[in-house]
Amino acid sequence: MASAAYKYIIVGGGVSAGYAAREFVNQGIKSGELAIISKEAVAPYERPALSKAYLFPENAARLPGFHVCVGSGGERLAPEWYAEKGIELILDTEVVKADIATKTLTTSAGNSFKYDVLVAATGSTFIKLSDFGVAGADSKGIYYLREIREADSLIEAIKSKKDGHAVVVGGGYIGLELAAVLTMNKLQVTMVYPEPWCMPRLFTSDIASFYEGYYLSKGVKIVKGTVASGFELDAEGHVTAVKLKDGRELAADIVIVGVGARPLTTLFKGQLEEEKGGIKVDGFFKTNNEDVYAVGDIATFPMKIYGEQRRVEHVDHSRKSAIQAVQAIKAKEEGRSIPEYDYLPFFYSRAFDLSWQFYGDNVGETVSFGRDEAAATKKFGGYWVKDGKVVGVFLEGGSAEENKAIAKVARLQPSIDSIEALASEGLAFISKV
Ligand SMILES: Cc1cc2nc3c(=O)[nH]c(=O)nc-3n(C[C@H](O)[C@H](O)[C@H](O)COP(=O)(O)OP(=O)(O)OC[C@H]3O[C@@H](n4cnc5c(N)ncnc54)[C@H](O)[C@@H]3O)c2cc1C
Repeated sequence: MASAAYKYIIVGGGVSAGYAAREFVNQGIKSGELAIISKEAVAPYERPALSKAYLFPENAARLPGFHVCVGSGGERLAPEWYAEKGIELILDTEVVKADIATKTLTTSAGNSFKYDVLVAATGSTFIKLSDFGVAGADSKGIYYLREIREADSLIEAIKSKKDGHAVVVGGGYIGLELAAVLTMNKLQVTMVYPEPWCMPRLFTSDIASFYEGYYLSKGVKIVKGTVASGFELDAEGHVTAVKLKDGRELAADIVIVGVGARPLTTLFKGQLEEEKGGIKVDGFFKTNNEDVYAVGDIATFPMKIYGEQRRVEHVDHSRKSAIQAVQAIKAKEEGRSIPEYDYLPFFYSRAFDLSWQFYGDNVGETVSFGRDEAAATKKFGGYWVKDGKVVGVFLEGGSAEENKAIAKVARLQPSIDSIEALASEGLAFISKV
């Protein structure tokens, strides 16, 4: 079996890996020093596109159009870029063992790779309905979405089930985005989720009611307060209906499940310290091992602004954490110091012609503003207020300037006179900060 050695290895070839590679180049590396080992068959790309433009019925996004770093307005790193920079892109290759003590990675084909410094960037995988013991959850016609090959299978299904019924299980990011693109693809979509409203982890009932109303107006049916408990299958074992716990059944040619994600930390179990389900790192993304860094979805890092260790499964953090880790690796080599990571949470989503952004923390009391059912504009939002300070802001339909302003509010956490005053000021409050 083959073996090779690199100064730096990134395990995982997703968003963080791509941004880390660019930062290694910015910081200065020699040809042959860096390798990326990825289970996926393609160079790092902007994963959020998979549940949005990749599934559009027309003018769909396709590689190489959305390789990193276009998602943040940067240079697009096509596979040739890695070759030009002397970075080894080892694709379609799963690392099945990471031996931290001997600094050796072993792949499923039995090849081994030695590193001086390892950047772990394995991301997350989806939680499956079979994890909850739902019978038949691996049947034909049931889809999950994390990687491009899953998006490709879904596209095939959409094409072959034209005008059919799609059931979307889950009312979070993936559920909402997929319900929208499936509707755009002319499928008859029903969403089902157990909570009283969609995206309960972030949305207030007030915010959610807007989106639910909008989805209904687009023809999406919503079934709340129950879960998928089983499936009806045809003679070929293909799904025909979703059985719900409350006894109802929903006709289904396609089922898409988006019930959450789980960080892929198994390679490092028992070898690296963990916290809150992720690999524990410091403000430089260094683990408890001097030569191992962990970035993106798998890292539990000090969220300086809130004085807490947190894990974040969002693309903005995956990009920024990767950049921070590489800068820290190079600074350490050169005996320099860099500031600790000081991350302000930023989440966003786009579906239909809607687009929202959220900055900060969704804790404390909530204040809504701008909802006007009669108005043509869909601009509205909400503040989260804790200890008399605005700590989080949500805005649908904001302009680039307004979105910048809400980020500033969440970062500065201005004090307010009263909840009532903030409510009556509404969006105008952001321009005062
Ligand atoms: C469909 C979808 C839509 C999303 N939309 C949004 C959005 O709109 N906004 C937002 O903020 N976030 C969004 N996210 C989340 C965001 O994409 C992730 O937070 C981000 O990709 C995390 O980056 P990462 O590098 O940690 O992991 P990933 O990008 O998931 O990359 C991990 C990589 O590691 C590889 N890998 C894993 N294990 C191994 C192994 N053992 N050996 C080799 N390779 C391995 C995987 O194949 C993958 O290539 C979305 C996620 C998905 C799945």
